[in-house]
Amino acid sequence: MRFTVAIDGPAAAGKGTISRAVAAHFRFAHLDTGLLYRAVGAKVAEGADPVAAAEGLDLSDLARGDLRSAEAGQAASRVAALPEVRAALVAFQRSFARREGGAVLDGRDIGTVICPEAEVKLFVTASDAERARRRWLELAARGGAQSEAEILADLRERDRRDREREAAPLRPAPDALLLDTTELTIDAAVNKAIEAIELRQAQGRE
Ligand code: C5P
Repeated sequence: MRFTVAIDGPAAAGKGTISRAVAAHFRFAHLDTGLLYRAVGAKVAEGADPVAAAEGLDLSDLARGDLRSAEAGQAASRVAALPEVRAALVAFQRSFARREGGAVLDGRDIGTVICPEAEVKLFVTASDAERARRRWLELAARGGAQSEAEILADLRERDRRDREREAAPLRPAPDALLLDTTELTIDAAVNKAIEAIELRQAQGRE
């Protein structure tokens, strides 16, 4: 059985949480595609050439412990604007998406560029203030010292770069289901995603 769930949206809108929960619920594999760009960005920060870093990316690179920081996010969004870097990462993501047993991929261009044929596409958003608050809670729990205002500025800068780039800009696919999580609990957001997938699975059986 091949079944792809594409989950896109701006930073800290809840994509990661929803993707992990949905993947666990349906026993699908999950790929956080932001990690690919974060790993390339981290290698570039160490002096590597961006395209060579993307072409030589290894699964072990995704396990680095320093990929979740705000700096790694900024480095990721800078290398993510380079078409050659994106092109080098397409084949891996597409083959992951069509693996046997179902797959959830979350990112910025999964429904628009990587898997326009995905069975379910979600575009997850939340207000800027709520996204900054959630990211602040997450980073503070890991000992981060950034203020909520700094995090908000960081998210806005990254979103602007992701939306305004020429190559695979952040935007919803025309047939994506929009999910605004600002006022939703995690459970409520996850349930909406599960419902959308169950509906599509039922249509597939008709
Ligand atoms: O999702 P995350 O915040 O980890 O992504 C880090 C950066 O990687 C994003 O700001 C974006 O520039 C880039 N990215 C992308 N396409 C994806 C996933 C992430 O351009 N599919």
